[in-house]
Amino acid sequence: MPGVESSDFFDARRGLPPLDRLLSHPAVASLIPLYGRDQVRVQARRIIDELRSRLAAAPPPPPEEMEGAVAALPERLAAEIESLLGRPLRRVLNATGIFLHTNLGRAPLPPAVAQGLPSLLDAYCDLELDLDTGRRGQRNRRVERLLTALTGAEAGLVVNNNAAALVIALAALAKDREVVVSRGELIEIGGSFRIPEIMAAAGARLIEVGATNRTRIADYEAAVGPATALLLKVFPSNFRLTGFVASVEPGQLVELARRLQVPLLVDEGSGLLRSHPGPQLAGHPSLAELMAAGCDLACGSGDKLLGGPQAGLLVGRADLLERCRRHPLYRALRPDRAALATLEEVLRLHLAGAPLPLDRLWPDRQAHRSRLEHAAAELGAEIVPAEAFLGGGSAPEAPIPGEALSLPGDDTLLARLRRGEPPIIGYLRQGRLILDLRTVAEEDDAALIAAVGRAICHS
Ligand SMILES: *Cc1c(COP(=O)(O)O)cnc(C)c1O
Repeated sequence: MPGVESSDFFDARRGLPPLDRLLSHPAVASLIPLYGRDQVRVQARRIIDELRSRLAAAPPPPPEEMEGAVAALPERLAAEIESLLGRPLRRVLNATGIFLHTNLGRAPLPPAVAQGLPSLLDAYCDLELDLDTGRRGQRNRRVERLLTALTGAEAGLVVNNNAAALVIALAALAKDREVVVSRGELIEIGGSFRIPEIMAAAGARLIEVGATNRTRIADYEAAVGPATALLLKVFPSNFRLTGFVASVEPGQLVELARRLQVPLLVDEGSGLLRSHPGPQLAGHPSLAELMAAGCDLACGSGDKLLGGPQAGLLVGRADLLERCRRHPLYRALRPDRAALATLEEVLRLHLAGAPLPLDRLWPDRQAHRSRLEHAAAELGAEIVPAEAFLGGGSAPEAPIPGEALSLPGDDTLLARLRRGEPPIIGYLRQGRLILDLRTVAEEDDAALIAAVGRAICHS
């Protein structure tokens, strides 16, 4: 686009364009609100100076080469400024059928929540002020009420993310003391999150029990002593041990924890508040079920299956959570008002039983079929069987059967879709492009169809 417009805009024979002319070129002017006039001007001057010194060299470059370089100036400027200052975050359509991708920002917020937020964020709010008494209140108090209503827990606390929930619980309840964990649950979840390292960072001593594949209740019992502060159970949600395996269910651990008077913390991981009708989630205990089973504390993420903002939820006994909230680390790990306001709205939708983006994974068959048929007709696509997944470490081996769009495709088409407007992420299967609409909001179908149409007609 800039090449066409600039051919009459810049004239290589008359030399390099003046800086102001370059700055008023549409492709350059659009950079100014994103990066600021000063940055754009500095980079533009740098590129023009460089061309000028190329012109002054002996022998000078051939005129066609200079003409080309001048015509490409706006594009080059945009590319350089983007690589220097980074491109703005983009809205992306996830047509992979994988609900949670950490790379794609994990769970999308319910549209009603996203739309309602600005009015809370562009003004002051009663985050820590009790409007009735005029006294200071707790920033967690609203989400705490909602969490306790949803999970049956006595109390709740929200921190920055689930890793922070574990850190604060371990630091507040088990510093310089022992935490008993099964060897089969010493997991790593993406990059730098490993249970033994979190434990060390919080100053707790890890006592490993059992073997990688089998841990029995007697192993826990033998490990508990006067220095034991906590029993920890982690749901290793991003892999599954199969074969000759055994682990101890939360219910059995509750009985042991009560008898030995040691609190039990369960890292549920996904932030599943209550049991979900999706059959692939049947084996995954919710926070409500863990509370009903008698666990002292449970924690999970805000932006996985719960479908909210990045947050770490802790629910359980009020006395234990009060120790977490009073710990100095709470100040470092507490959520900001944007996260709290978002979480509050998402929890209200859970309470109201409203449909959430996660539920799109199990669409009504008929309605989904006609949605796919419409898109397939527009794009000349086929409808093929395809598996969707929860992703993000939730029920990794439980595919959700269904249907998706299929088109002839290769890596080039995949890349073109990724670079389109809006960017679309699909996947390749046996030489075909697969687009699974179960992770796309129906309101985005028209934009998806248009962008895929453009990408195909350029191939
Ligand atoms: C995802 C996950 C975490 C980390 O949660 P973040 O919110 O990403 O910090 C911890 N434990 C389990 C079991 C998880 O699945």
